[in-house]
Formats: sequence, structure tokens, C-alpha cells
Amino acid sequence: MIARMIVSSLQSGIEKLGDMIAEARSIIPFTGAGISTECGIPDFRSPGGLWTKNRPIPFDEFVASQDARDEAWRRRFAMEPSFAGAKPGRGHRALASLYKAGKVPAIITQNIDNLHQRSGFAAEHVIELHGNTTFAKCIGCGHRYEIDWVRSRFDDSGEAPDCETCGDPVKSATISFGQAMPEEDMRRATELTQHCDLFLAIGSSLVVWPAAGFPLLARNCGAKLVIINNEPTDQDEIADLVINHDIGETLGPFIGN
Ligand code: NAD
Repeated sequence: MIARMIVSSLQSGIEKLGDMIAEARSIIPFTGAGISTECGIPDFRSPGGLWTKNRPIPFDEFVASQDARDEAWRRRFAMEPSFAGAKPGRGHRALASLYKAGKVPAIITQNIDNLHQRSGFAAEHVIELHGNTTFAKCIGCGHRYEIDWVRSRFDDSGEAPDCETCGDPVKSATISFGQAMPEEDMRRATELTQHCDLFLAIGSSLVVWPAAGFPLLARNCGAKLVIINNEPTDQDEIADLVINHDIGETLGPFIGN
């Protein structure tokens, strides 16, 4: 299969995307870290992204080692000003406009920053494949803790805290490498992807699996596929439209539509 259109000019990309949105009955956006970079949250793989600075801590290491848990929380606290201060960007706001207009039944995101909810999506319509970092959970009993609670425990004892109920480690409510994917979210994401007629992959390098399987699934189920990212991805060749431009500039014109 070959891409029907890779646009070089931003304007023609916006026009073509506008036509596809107008024709679509059910649009599923699928977002990655690139939609939030203009909000001050770095992505993983761009120059200056998080992975150029820190090796990720896999789940089994987090569970096995107090040192790993302490380091994971130190990194999380260091990110707190970015997460707490971030406001939805143009991409988030444009997608929220399509949601309010009834074109988008729900959104699938790899992001953990809560910005789709803050832009106006109801929480039950945001499918978070990799969880949410704005709160924490016990990995044993699932009890919820707020980041401030973890912070004050850490500051008092110098160590990442365990659950007050069951004693298991408390972790940000995200899915780490090696941790099981959330079953119900995966099921809902699969169903929505299978039944949409336009799938928008926005700001993802499409290298983290199984999440990166959704654009492919959409295409295989007959939906049109649009990829918006400032660098090429491995799935560009199966897309109907590829826009290699800034997300805010590309989606900005759709705010309020
Ligand atoms: P990624 O870092 O692998 O890819 C982001 C892509 O977006 C890159 O290809 C980059 O070139 C592109 N990009 C960055 N800014 C852009 C812009 N303004 N316009 C157009 N393109 C832009 O991120 P990913 O594919 O989402 O996957 C990695 C994992 O990163 C996810 O699991 C997610 O949980 C995690 N993550 C999330 C956040 C967040 O919640 N905001 C931040 C960092 C990492």
C-alpha cells in the first residue's frame, strides 16, 4: 500500500484535512507526546526529549528496588512544574472542538498529562493507554494517592513511600515498560478504532507497541488514516494523508469549528 498524499505545504495539508474531517462520520484521534510539546512538556525522542537525558526505569526494576523507586519519584517531582503548569495547546483545543461538535466520540492517547481532559473531553471519553501521571496508585491494591501526598512522605523519610493500606509500593498511575497494558482501555480503543471512518495519528513517533498498532488497525478496518508529525514515521506509507508540520499550526485552524 502506498500513501495517497504526503503534503509539503502546510496550507494544502490543512485544506485536505478539512475536507476529510467534513466528510467523516466518526473520527478517532490518537495522540502522542508531540501534541503537548508546545505546552512545555518535552516528548521522549526529540532532541532534548526525556530519553536523551534519562534511561526509562522498567516496571520490574521499580518493584524490586527501593533505589529505583526513589529515582523514579525524584524524576517525577522534577517534572512537576511542567505538568502542573501546562495548559492545553492548539492541538488539544482543536480536538476538543471536534468532540463538542459531535464528530469525535472519544480520544485514544498515549499521553499521561491529563491535557485532553483539561481541554474539555469528559474523562470517560479519554482512553489513556499509558495511564496518567497527575496522580499515583498503589501497585498492589490500586488505592489512589495524590502527588502532594507522595511528595510530603518522600520529603519526610527520604524514600519513596509504600501504600498505607497494603504496604505495596506507590507508583505514578502510568504504565511503565514491562507493565501490563490496561485491559479495558485496550478493548475500548480497539473497538473505537475498528468502527471509525477517519483516524488521526497526531504527535507520535509510532514506535511504542502495542499502542502503535492502532493506526494500522484503523487502516486495515477501512478507515482513512492521517498522520500529523514533524518527522516521518514508519507508518507514513500506509496513510492517506501525511502532514509533516507543527501540530499547533496544523490544527489551530480547527479550533472552534
Ligand atoms: P515520542 O516522543 O516517541 O514521539 C513524539 C513525536 O512527536 C516525535 O516524532 C516528534 O518529532 C513529534 N513532535 C514533537 N513535537 C511536535 C510538534 N510540535 N509538532 C509535530 N510533531 C511534533 O512520543 P510517543 O509516540 O507519544 O510515545 C512515547 C511515550 O511517551 C508514550 O507512551 C507517552 O506515554 C510518553 N510521554 C508522554 C508525554 C505526555 O504525556 N505529554 C510526554 C513524554 C512522553
